[in-house]
Amino acid sequence: MFTLRKKRIGILLASAALAAAVCVWFLADVEPVITLNGSDRVEINYGETYEEEGAAGKLAEKLFGQDLFSIRPSVIQNDVRNEVGTYQIVYEAGFLFQKATAERTVVVVDREPPVIELAEQKDSELTLPGEPFQECGYRAMDNVDGDVADQVESREENGRVIYTVTDSSGNTATAERIIRYKDTEPPVITLIGSEHMTLKVGEAYNEPGYTAADQVDGDLTGQVVVEHQIDSQKPGVYEVVYTVEDHGGNQTAAKRTVTVASPLDNPSNNSGDKVIYLTFDDGPGPYTEKLLNILDEYNVKVTFFVTNGYPEYRDMIGEAYRRGHTIAIHTYSHSYSDVYASKEAYYDDLNKMQEIIVEQTGEATTLFRFPGGSSNTVSRKYCKGIMSLLTESLEEDGYHYFDWNVSSTDGGGTTETSVVVDNVINGCSGKRASVVLQHDIKSFSVDAVPQIIEWGLRNGYTFRALDENSPTAHHGVNN
Ligand code: ZN
Repeated sequence: MFTLRKKRIGILLASAALAAAVCVWFLADVEPVITLNGSDRVEINYGETYEEEGAAGKLAEKLFGQDLFSIRPSVIQNDVRNEVGTYQIVYEAGFLFQKATAERTVVVVDREPPVIELAEQKDSELTLPGEPFQECGYRAMDNVDGDVADQVESREENGRVIYTVTDSSGNTATAERIIRYKDTEPPVITLIGSEHMTLKVGEAYNEPGYTAADQVDGDLTGQVVVEHQIDSQKPGVYEVVYTVEDHGGNQTAAKRTVTVASPLDNPSNNSGDKVIYLTFDDGPGPYTEKLLNILDEYNVKVTFFVTNGYPEYRDMIGEAYRRGHTIAIHTYSHSYSDVYASKEAYYDDLNKMQEIIVEQTGEATTLFRFPGGSSNTVSRKYCKGIMSLLTESLEEDGYHYFDWNVSSTDGGGTTETSVVVDNVINGCSGKRASVVLQHDIKSFSVDAVPQIIEWGLRNGYTFRALDENSPTAHHGVNN
């Protein structure tokens, strides 16, 4: 019995030992496995907190078909810091003699560019036009690098300054400044329409318009102040004053003269217009264009008795014609000894000038004026009776010659603008029709024209160019 029991115990022990050995042998080969919660690569922005998501562990082989053992991995390394960089988190789990590790990469990135703050350009720091911008200050701060002002680069282009700075992570910030320039130039007012307008009594003044532009502020038309006290019932010369100021405090003003004129304002003459025919001999020349511009300003038309004295200004004949003035012949050469030598000589010369006029205007003229006028006696020296012959013959050929009844004496009597003005005003005063002799090759005489016109308009005169039906102001033939 005893022996039998002992033997049984022995078998039992041996079996248990064998079972344990099999178990250990079996389990020794079972490996733990770690599975990370979330991604194995996590990117977080600089300043954000890293949230650990943890990991799960288990044994790789199923025991009897079951996940019998779950194991908890532990973090054995985590050096994630709030600094731009790449970090590792290491997880470990162990089972008996086996160990497993897993890693997660955490990247702290900076995607935020620096911030540039520009100091405002003070009024005392304004840039002079044409000069480079003088830096008036800026700040640049980065979330990671801190103050990066000393790394800012700037460049000036087209009235702007562009600032750029890049932080250590490669994020670039830009800022732009519009340069404020010192305004040294006043704005410019440009009047639309004539600077000298004429209204009939009772006719309302309609502002023809204007524009104002400033070097710095641009279009200032909307800021122009217009002032006038035109009383269209009351003849007189009025001024329309336009003023505008730019943001730099520069002011500018422009003026328009408005004449309220009545043909009846001279009580001694209520039977129609008083007309002044301004005529200019011996040109075109160096001052003709200036004269044309003056006449345009007043919208006054005149008559040019032209010569070939200054061939380089010949195209002013066409120009005057296109601007509405009358072109008439005064001779090609203006040489008394040549043109008054014979009838043929006069016609030859006349035809040469006519050809130039046709070339310039596309049209022949029938109007002319004799050098020295029809009453000249100097022609006697070259050909006796030539003036009688020519006046008759040319009229027969369809030409109309004009003399004058008001002389400005600019042909030799004076070289003063004021004397020209006085002579013309005195000569025209009281006349129903005045044919005024001036020379556009005399600069002082051209300069008298604005005053003559303003006087005429103020006093109810109308200015006209000559035509075939105009008064001829013939002097009478003396040779
Ligand atoms: Zn002449």
